[in-house]
Amino acid sequence: MKGKCSQSGCSAQVHAKGLCKTHYGRKWRGHPPDGNGRRRPDCLMSDTVEERRVSAERGLAEARTVYGVAVGLEARTKWRGRIRELELVLQRLEPAEIAAG
Ligand SMILES: [Zn+2]
Repeated sequence: MKGKCSQSGCSAQVHAKGLCKTHYGRKWRGHPPDGNGRRRPDCLMSDTVEERRVSAERGLAEARTVYGVAVGLEARTKWRGRIRELELVLQRLEPAEIAAG
């Protein structure tokens, strides 16, 4: 069943996992789908740890908000998965910084 992209403010047609091609692609490149439109080649991971953390924290806060008001098992499952994903991103970032400091 195809519908609109689940990303707020986006009305593109769903490509996969409830997201349009743009947002789905961003998600699987490790960026939150709501990343503010910045694009970079996949091979050029120039984000600093801090930038990635801020981005993940912002996405996590949004995901938790949406999860809190999401209705229906499908929506809640989707957002819970996103929260878990972002928590893992943050967990991976933190030890790296501790090791560096
Ligand atoms: Zn979209």
